[in-house]
Amino acid sequence: MKIGVYPGSFDPVTEGHMDIIKRSAKMFDKVIVAVARNYSKKPLFTAEERMELIQRSLQGLPNVEVDSFEGLLMDYIHSKDAQVIIKGLRAISDFEYEFQMALMNRKLDSKVETIFMMTSYKYSFLSSSMIKEVASLGGCIAGLVPENIIPDIYRKLKTIR
Ligand code: ADP
Repeated sequence: MKIGVYPGSFDPVTEGHMDIIKRSAKMFDKVIVAVARNYSKKPLFTAEERMELIQRSLQGLPNVEVDSFEGLLMDYIHSKDAQVIIKGLRAISDFEYEFQMALMNRKLDSKVETIFMMTSYKYSFLSSSMIKEVASLGGCIAGLVPENIIPDIYRKLKTIR
């Protein structure tokens, strides 16, 4: 069984992430969206909340699972018997860091491939931090994150004010 792992912070999940999830679900028997618990920036949502928001956005994608991981991604990949790390690329600015990470992961286990999926044009400017910033200033985020999680984002931002 071909298993791909799509790791990230997903704080919160955006339509850019969903686009990568939907496209990779067609390429693998199973895709595991892996929420990083040891995410360096202080997250807005807890790992459980981030997982729940993704889960709620996954209708019609039976071969996609949501999980979380802590520590070395490669250890997690092994624990799931996965063969591929899935990454999204937005712009050249993502490239250098992702290139370094991919080479480091190859050094850790050369049998595990990293594949990069190019973002869809309309989401190329989109990041979770941009969503949080715009929403916290009262801007409209419709069309940029799954519709049914929009109220959760505004609600959560209110609690930290
Ligand atoms: P961010 O906080 O920068 O939005 P994450 O750590 O949650 O990013 O991202 C997880 C993965 O999703 C990374 O591989 C990242 O490059 C990718 N990604 C994030 N946003 C997009 C987007 N708009 N289009 C395509 N890939 C994306």
